[in-house]
Amino acid sequence: MEVLVIELIKDAIQQLEKANIAEATVDSWLLSEEILNVKKQNYYMNMGITVNEELAAKYKEAVNKRAEHIPLQHIIGYQQFLDYKILVNENVLIPRPETELLVEKVTDFIGNNEMKVLDMCTGSGCIAIAVDKMCDKASVVGADISKDALEVAVKNNALNHANVEFTKSDMFSNIEGKYDVIVSNPPYIPTKDVVELEQEVKEHDPLLALDGSDDGLKFYRIISKNAVEYLREKGMLFLEIGYDQGKTVPDLLKNNGFTNIKVFKDLSGLDRMVVAGKE
Ligand code: GLN
Repeated sequence: MEVLVIELIKDAIQQLEKANIAEATVDSWLLSEEILNVKKQNYYMNMGITVNEELAAKYKEAVNKRAEHIPLQHIIGYQQFLDYKILVNENVLIPRPETELLVEKVTDFIGNNEMKVLDMCTGSGCIAIAVDKMCDKASVVGADISKDALEVAVKNNALNHANVEFTKSDMFSNIEGKYDVIVSNPPYIPTKDVVELEQEVKEHDPLLALDGSDDGLKFYRIISKNAVEYLREKGMLFLEIGYDQGKTVPDLLKNNGFTNIKVFKDLSGLDRMVVAGKE
């Protein structure tokens, strides 16, 4: 028997609204696009559009998962990040749109120059892969402490035909040589604030990728202290930061000898990035 798509969608929206999913309508259509291969536009061109029972059951199963606050990206298995499809699972942070802005800053700086780039705390590899794809002459290394995260990063590297070299390293412990650019979106949420995050984040993004210890600054301290040694002269450091770290992180960098420190905002007008130079 065939099932009307609109009936499935209506039920999904109702179920997700009841479960307090903020974007119930958007998510219902996104799951339809992924699982039923029916976009909103297809429906408006043919309001009587149907799918077979098997697909309908698959769709309902996905909606049930979403109603349990499993992130949409974990249900469909990926997140679009700039032009790149980035596979995700519970071992990596789901790439965020703010981080796309960080990549833009980095790639603007590199341009068409031959540069060595280190992405510290690479996670899914989204930053490293995007930089490698967007900058022809850059050679990019992605480092992470988590073996499970690196497995995902390696898959993303192949999927996107990128050439990033991934390495397992607890911060700089296994890093050698000097880089023109170090970029990082480290864990930066103060431990006590993790419980305040929405269910999708605190229960499904890895704690390892979120928790920046007591004051959220643990990894910025390590980076500020060590990055100088791994940067070439005139090298640049690009960091994503929490909305309330626009003063603390620059101070740390200043105290460790960085210069030309600039803070940039995200699209919501919140402090989100720090760029600093090495003399
Ligand atoms: N670098 C990855 C990202 O930006 C992972 C960041 C993290 O795990 N804190 O998505």
